[in-house]
Amino acid sequence: MSDEEYERLLDRAFSKMPKLAEAVSDFKIPAVDSLIQGNKTIIKNLSALADRARRNPDDIARYVSKELAVPVGVEDQRLVISGKFTPDDLNRRMQRYFEAYVLCKECHHPDSHLEVAGRGMFYFVCEACGARYGIKSY
Ligand SMILES: [Zn+2]
Repeated sequence: MSDEEYERLLDRAFSKMPKLAEAVSDFKIPAVDSLIQGNKTIIKNLSALADRARRNPDDIARYVSKELAVPVGVEDQRLVISGKFTPDDLNRRMQRYFEAYVLCKECHHPDSHLEVAGRGMFYFVCEACGARYGIKSY
């Protein structure tokens, strides 16, 4: 390989890096839009959260139910939670959900899915970098 060819390869390698960094920093964990009604808490933007995560709304419902240890239901694309929970609390938990179950811990891309591994585990599968690792299921 000539010096010129080598430099061209290096250039190409470096020119790809900013793009990757950009894609990662572009991803914002969406804020929960919630309100308290009587002794229930309603997450109004369940479908937006699910779209962003590329997960089924029912999967998010199950996670929230497990996290808060209360029953939840999906009604008209909204998540209805038994009990009163502050937006801060809900946002913290949703952040944890995205960090653990949506964003790849290797490359931090959100293009991923979960496979049931059994024995209380999921396989996290990253479609961006190909990473595959076990995480606790919910
Ligand atoms: Zn990855």
